[in-house]
Amino acid sequence: MGMNLVILGPPGAGKGTQAVRLAQAFSLRHLSSGDLLRAERARGSALGKKAAEYMDAGKLVPDEIIIGAVLSQLSDLGDKAGLLLDGFPRTVAQAESLGKALNQAGKRVDVVPALAVPEDLIVDRITGRRTCPRCNAVYHVKTLPPARDGICDADGAVLVQRPDDTAEVVKQRLEAYHRQTAPLEAYYRDKGLLAEVDGTQDMDTVFQALSEAVRRRLGME
Ligand code: AMP
Repeated sequence: MGMNLVILGPPGAGKGTQAVRLAQAFSLRHLSSGDLLRAERARGSALGKKAAEYMDAGKLVPDEIIIGAVLSQLSDLGDKAGLLLDGFPRTVAQAESLGKALNQAGKRVDVVPALAVPEDLIVDRITGRRTCPRCNAVYHVKTLPPARDGICDADGAVLVQRPDDTAEVVKQRLEAYHRQTAPLEAYYRDKGLLAEVDGTQDMDTVFQALSEAVRRRLGME
């Protein structure tokens, strides 16, 4: 049976980038709640419309909305598939619901890598971020530019700045992180699942450290 990971960290810590690499390295299905909501918005679904006002204000989408949306994605998982959750859970109530749902399927959260990045670095990282609207690849204007200015290396689409990656909205998102999401570190630490990694290092070093932390916690080395 596959292992299940939850990756934690403040916005702009590099969660999404590292999640894609970890999912590949450990053959996990990557599920990003932010990507899920953005796809719902793009489709113009009722869920997408409800989520939009919260997202654009840098606030968390209420638990009543997001829990059902994410858990419904988990139910169509094959038994063998391991999961890498990115952006969910973001509140203790979400973590409790996730734990219950996995439990009912005879599964559990096996390890929770957490990226630590100090606040002064975060704002720069987020406001310089550019994303591909087609494949969700993430770039940074200074630290991770695409080969051609403003164009996705993978599929040639024109890169965009997420509407919630502006300086004003970032402040709100950080506030939501500290108040609602940061308590999850203690929640998973108490369960002996947290594996903290310094997220300020370069991408490859962070990836190595994350991979080692996951293997160590799972007794793979
Ligand atoms: P992200 O791409 O993970 O930064 O998510 C973008 C936005 O989607 C967040 O700022 C929230 O408004 C919303 N969102 C994503 N995941 C969650 C979640 N687990 N709980 C509540 N809101 C979420």
